[in-house]
Amino acid sequence: MKCRVCRGPAVIDLPRHNANFCADHFLRYCHNQVERAIHDHAMLAPGERVLVAVSGGKDSLALWDLLGALGWEADGLYVGLGIGDYSDVSGEHARRFAADRSLRLIEVDLRSSYDFDVPTAAAVTRRVPCSACGLSKRHLFDKAALDGGYDAMATGHNLDDEAAVLYGNVLRWQTAYLGRQRPVLPAGNGFPRKVKPLVRLTERETAAYCVLRGIDYQVEECPMAAGNRHLGYKEVLNEMERRSPGTKSSFYFGFVDRAVDRFADGAPQPGGEPAPAVLGRCTRCGAPAESELCAFCRLVERAGGAEPVPVAPPRRRS
Ligand code: SF4
Ligand code: ZN
Ligand code: ZN
Repeated sequence: MKCRVCRGPAVIDLPRHNANFCADHFLRYCHNQVERAIHDHAMLAPGERVLVAVSGGKDSLALWDLLGALGWEADGLYVGLGIGDYSDVSGEHARRFAADRSLRLIEVDLRSSYDFDVPTAAAVTRRVPCSACGLSKRHLFDKAALDGGYDAMATGHNLDDEAAVLYGNVLRWQTAYLGRQRPVLPAGNGFPRKVKPLVRLTERETAAYCVLRGIDYQVEECPMAAGNRHLGYKEVLNEMERRSPGTKSSFYFGFVDRAVDRFADGAPQPGGEPAPAVLGRCTRCGAPAESELCAFCRLVERAGGAEPVPVAPPRRRS
């Protein structure tokens, strides 16, 4: 197996590009893919300050590393979710990465700041943990980006994530979600700009990037992930990708290039779904809200102060 560029020994094969790369040219490939995503979708302008949502996993640490390598001033934000050992270990990875590179890591802890954690919120609301978790992360990411005056909030969603979410939204024709599934969401209406610079890289590629860059990341799976539908969608898409390399990329980028505008706010909705309500402000925290309190403050009302529930230890990824 030889590198497509220099003909030296290759360390990775990328069937969807019909290419193999040595370590140096693979790292260059990752830089190029991220630069291209940022440029093609006008995610960031030179000199802008970025806040990276850091979980301690491969994608967010690769993203933080890549943005720095490409010249952006990027701080990290770690949210302590209180998911037992899993959160303890992920926090250690995020802190070590930041300390080793003298980067600034902002931390918010759900338990110490809001008196609840994800497992407790799931038990109190009787919904899947990812629901309270996603809601809390979105709220705290937005708040930290706005409070810190950052130009954009960057998340480590990769091509596998975006293709799986798209697949799920298409299966259920979730038209309102489809209209917002873009690599960049502009700032406005009380939200910061949100960007996904890793959309051109797959999970396997971000993992390889971390290994080649010596980035130590959290490999264990979240013990609350069971029941997360996207894991199943990823398996289906991986099988299709194996049979026909390039499927994920053409599915996702075909949608972004040719279909997402059809689902935008104000566009006629195929399912007759009502246009999203104009948002007011939460009377407690000032965040955009559909009622008196935003969804996060309502969650704090319900789960704050509830007795913590035990959490299973993290599972090794299969
Ligand atoms: Fe949160 Fe679900 Fe991800 Fe676990 S798997 S970190 S609960 S969103
Ligand atoms: Zn090479
Ligand atoms: Zn609120």
